Amino acid sequence: MLRWTAPWLCVVALLAGSPAWSKEPEAGNWKAGAAKVNITPEKYMWMSGYSARKEPAKGKLTDLWAKALVLEDPSGRRGVLVTMDLVGIDRNLSLAVCNELKKKYKLPREAIVLATSHTHSGPVVRGNLDVMYFLDETQQKLIADYVQTLQTKLVAVVGEALGKLAPVQLAWGNGYTTFAVNRRNNKEADVPKLREAGQLKGPVDHDVPVLSVRDAKNRLLAIVFGYACHATVLSGQEWSGDYPGHAQIALEKAYPEAIALFWAGCGADQNPVPRRAVALAEEYGKQLADAVEQVLKAPMTPLGGKLSSVYGEIDLPFDDLPSRDQLVKDSTDTNRYVAARAKLLLKEIEQKGSLKGTYPYPVQVWQLGPELTWVTLGGEVVVDYSLRLKKEIAPGKTWVAGYANDVMAYIPSLRVLKEGGYEGGGAMVYYGLPTVWGPKVEELIVAAVHEQVKKARGMVKEK
Ligand SMILES: [Zn+2]
Repeated sequence: MLRWTAPWLCVVALLAGSPAWSKEPEAGNWKAGAAKVNITPEKYMWMSGYSARKEPAKGKLTDLWAKALVLEDPSGRRGVLVTMDLVGIDRNLSLAVCNELKKKYKLPREAIVLATSHTHSGPVVRGNLDVMYFLDETQQKLIADYVQTLQTKLVAVVGEALGKLAPVQLAWGNGYTTFAVNRRNNKEADVPKLREAGQLKGPVDHDVPVLSVRDAKNRLLAIVFGYACHATVLSGQEWSGDYPGHAQIALEKAYPEAIALFWAGCGADQNPVPRRAVALAEEYGKQLADAVEQVLKAPMTPLGGKLSSVYGEIDLPFDDLPSRDQLVKDSTDTNRYVAARAKLLLKEIEQKGSLKGTYPYPVQVWQLGPELTWVTLGGEVVVDYSLRLKKEIAPGKTWVAGYANDVMAYIPSLRVLKEGGYEGGGAMVYYGLPTVWGPKVEELIVAAVHEQVKKARGMVKEK
C-alpha cells in the first residue's frame, strides 16, 4: 500500500497523464555523489547485538557495507549521509570520523550524519554495548583493529563520494510496509495469529520514507530509505545485513547504477516477526524493497531550495545516580552484567572523582528545501518519537531516523520509561550507563528537535 506524501501531486500527475519525472528533468540545482565500501570483517571476530553468543562469527551470508551520499545545494552547502550495516557506533568513533572529515574535506559537524542499520549479525564495534561481552585479549585486539580500519574506510568513502559530485534532481516520498510489530505489546509466538485477526497491539510506524537522487538523464544514482524496525531477524554465527541488507541488495539489483542506503528509523520497540530464518530476512528485505520501488515508480515530491543543517548535543540527565557503596555491592552481583557495569563505573569514579549525571545526547536536523525535514536522533529510539515528531513538525514532510551519530542507549519516551521493561531502562546495563534516564528524557529531546527545526527552517529561507 502506498501513502501519498503530497496528494496534490497525484492530481498534477493525472492531469499531465504521466509521472512527474517522465520528462527529461532539469538538472543543475543540486549536486550529489555516492560511493560504497565493503566493511565485512576480514577475520571471524565477535558478533554484536546478542549477549547469548558463545563464539565468534563462522561464516558470511551477505557482505556488510558502508555507503556515503554527499549532497550539495545550489549555494554550495554540503551534507554527507554515511550509512553502515552495523549494530551501532559509539561517540568516540563518531568524533574521530567527524574530526577527520573536517580536517580533510572541511565538512562541519552539522553537515555529517553517521547512521547505522542496527543489524545484529555484524561485528562488535568498540565502545558500543561494552558490558554485553566478556572477551579475551585476542578478541579485543580484533575489535580495536576493525574499528581502526572502519574509520579509515568511512573517511575514504566520503572522499570518493565527494569526487563524484554531479548535477542531480532530488525527490522524496513515503511508502508503507507492515512487518514491524510492537514487541512490547505482542507476545512473539502469538503474532501470526494476532496479525491474521487484525489484533496486533501497540504503536508502530510503518512508513517507508524514500529519497531519490537522479542524474541529468533521469537515472537513479542513489536511493535513501528507512524503516522503523529492529534488524533482528537473524541471530546466527554468519555476517549478514539482515533485512535492511537484503533490501539494499534487492534495490541495487533492480537499479544497477544506484547505491541504496538504509537508515534505521525509531524502531527500538519494534521487531520483524516472525523471525529467525534466513528466508524471512530475505522476505522482509524484499517487502521493504518493493515498498521503496512503489514510491520510486510513482510521482515523488521534488526537492528544491537549499540545504540547512543544525547539530547539537544536549545534556540528557540520568535518574538518581547509584552511590559508590551501591556500586561496590553490585560489583559482586551474581548477574555478571550488573557486576561488569559496576566495575566499569567504579573505574570512572576512580579516574574522574564522580559519575557524570548527564550524557551528551546528539540531535541533528537537516532541512532539504521547504519540502523535507530530516530529524536524526542518537541511540535506540522508540517509535513514540517518530510518531510524535512527524505530527508536530509537519505531517508528510518529516523523516525521523534513530541509531545515528552515537548509539549510547535505548531512548524511551516518557510512556515507555514509566512502563519500564527492557527499552524503558533494563537495557541500560548493557550500555554501561549508571541508571535509567530521568523523567525529562522525552521533553528535552523533543524541545531540542523543535528548536533545531526552527533554526534550520530560518536558514533555508535566508537569501
Ligand atoms: Zn536494539
